Amino acid sequence: MSLNEQIIYYNGKFLKENEICLSPFNRGFSFGDGVFETMRVYSGKVFRLEDHIDRLLRGLDLLGIERNADVGSIKKAVKSLIDKNSLNNASMKISAFREECSGIDPVAGLKACYLITSSHFDFKRKEKCEKGISAGIVSIKRNQSSPHVFIKSLNYLENILGRREAHDKGYDEAVFLNNLNFVAEGSISNIFTVKDFVLYTPSLETGILNGITRAVVIEIASDFGIKCCERFLKKEDVLTADEVFLTNSLMEIIPVRELDGQRLSDRCPGIITADFMRMYREKVEKE
Ligand code: PLP
Repeated sequence: MSLNEQIIYYNGKFLKENEICLSPFNRGFSFGDGVFETMRVYSGKVFRLEDHIDRLLRGLDLLGIERNADVGSIKKAVKSLIDKNSLNNASMKISAFREECSGIDPVAGLKACYLITSSHFDFKRKEKCEKGISAGIVSIKRNQSSPHVFIKSLNYLENILGRREAHDKGYDEAVFLNNLNFVAEGSISNIFTVKDFVLYTPSLETGILNGITRAVVIEIASDFGIKCCERFLKKEDVLTADEVFLTNSLMEIIPVRELDGQRLSDRCPGIITADFMRMYREKVEKE
């Protein structure tokens, strides 16, 4: 099925792309006034769907947008869309934005609109990621005192700009520091380091997205009695780590080969990273 033949869910209806009608006053488009989730479909099932929906709804709460749907109804819409598009392995995106109104100040009581789309899963990109990527620290800082950094808002400009800066320097992914110069996260990923068989990852108060994959990695570590510390991390901690990896729902666990042009370890993926890549896949298969 080509992309424009895919069925799209919009506010209770299943439509073709050319049948969707979004208002020019759409607040997601005009102001980034909404949130989104990117999720991976494995064998016709979204991994950790409830966690994604929960984060989406909490994002709406933070923005003061009336939910207008519950976990059950969103789950039902996602599952129907999987059936209608006969999805096996795919990526899915739920966008939720405030009903339209003109002007920057939203009228009280505006409800959330929901748009769910799907696309083919990029196996080639995944394969490339598995071999290890390069990352570079970028000039834009995460503002740990802004509520914006904790939600997956429809305004992704800082991530796009950071990613562009990294790409311009020849790196695959950007790494953001926060305003206190602690390592925060990637433009579409969370970061982990491994040192002496202990996992480290920036704590949430560093000003990062509470990644679903990050949580799964922490869970796997706990399942297998591997210590995982959430704390403030310095750039030097990353440069001197035995292994470094990034996490993201679509790409799962991504080994990092080099940071700022400095080779991180002899082996990529490292032993622990490779173990986590395998254990993550086993968890997906089990669920
Ligand atoms: N941090 C940012 C800024 C992201 O955009 C993403 C995903 O897109 C992540 C972290 C990883 O989150 P998740 O594991 O939920 O996909």
